[in-house]
Formats: sequence, structure tokens, C-alpha cells
Amino acid sequence: MDVAAHVVEQVLAHLCGKGLYGDVTEWCEARNDCVFVVTCPDCRCTFTLTEEEFALLVRRSQEVQACGVALGEGWPPPVRPLNPFFL
Ligand SMILES: [Zn+2]
Repeated sequence: MDVAAHVVEQVLAHLCGKGLYGDVTEWCEARNDCVFVVTCPDCRCTFTLTEEEFALLVRRSQEVQACGVALGEGWPPPVRPLNPFFL
């Protein structure tokens, strides 16, 4: 398990321990320099993930389908299977 996966497991473990979906905010300091902040809706603690880590978190959440991050309002729906971000 690499470092990115470790962070993802931490986020999943926290949210799934409560059966929750985190709120996602994307922060871009500059073009191509974005991070994703996942906020726990319960205790408001935050996790900062790189795009790569967030993509992995999305994939893992889709596998679990009960907690993690939901790509809902304000987010492009994950309905385009060819979008490389979701592969
Ligand atoms: Zn929490």
C-alpha cells in the first residue's frame, strides 16, 4: 500500500466508522495546483488530498457505496465512464 492509499484509507475509515459522506471542496492555488478538502459533516474535521488521492478515494467510495465521498451537488456527475479522472 503506497502513501496515497494510506491517506485514502484514513479518510474512509473515519467517515465509514460513522456511515457518513464527507463534504468535498476543491481548492486551487494556481492552475494545475489543486487539492481536495474532505470535511466530515459530523465533527467538521478535514482531510486534504491531492487530486491523485482524491481520485482514489472516489473509486474506493464507489466500491463501498455506503460512505466516503459522494459526487453530488456542485460536482460533475460521474456518468462519463471515459473521463480519465474516474478511471
Ligand atoms: Zn468526523
